[in-house]
Amino acid sequence: MTNPFSGADFKPGTYRCPSCNEPFFKDLIWKATCLECYLDKKGKRRAEAEIRYVKVAAEPIEPTMLRRLLQCCHPDRHDGSEASRLATQWLLQQRGGQHG
Ligand SMILES: [Zn+2]
Repeated sequence: MTNPFSGADFKPGTYRCPSCNEPFFKDLIWKATCLECYLDKKGKRRAEAEIRYVKVAAEPIEPTMLRRLLQCCHPDRHDGSEASRLATQWLLQQRGGQHG
């Protein structure tokens, strides 16, 4: 029995994409189609995920909670780390985006 995923017979090189028939460089055995076809297929699922993300992001953060989060994330509390700096920046944007 030969394992089709063993990669024993696989050689990296230019293969023809079965989806769009364009040649593409296949460096790994699991790459069945070219990058564009792969992203196209994946893109549909990604778009759905982004819609969900937008819905969640549209939910405003309560001002009290926002203040609390800003206090917790402040770079001064985290040795000025990049993560805390970015988080603080994002939180300030949420505050700026809120109306009322
Ligand atoms: Zn393709």
